[in-house]
Amino acid sequence: MFTSKAHCYLCKREIQPYEEIYVKMRYPKSKGFTEIKAFLKNEGNIICINCFPTESVNARNQSQ
Ligand SMILES: [Zn+2]
Repeated sequence: MFTSKAHCYLCKREIQPYEEIYVKMRYPKSKGFTEIKAFLKNEGNIICINCFPTESVNARNQSQ
């Protein structure tokens, strides 16, 4: 999905292959998902799992 090295938006750490990430971005205005890849390059902020606010993650994983 990402052709170049990606770094966490918050801690600047390099994202490792297969690492779980979160992306904060605006939804494209016109063509929806076909433009998301281009949008990621320009406006997407990749957040590694260490920096992502853990409240929502913990809530989702409570049953495990
Ligand atoms: Zn990070």
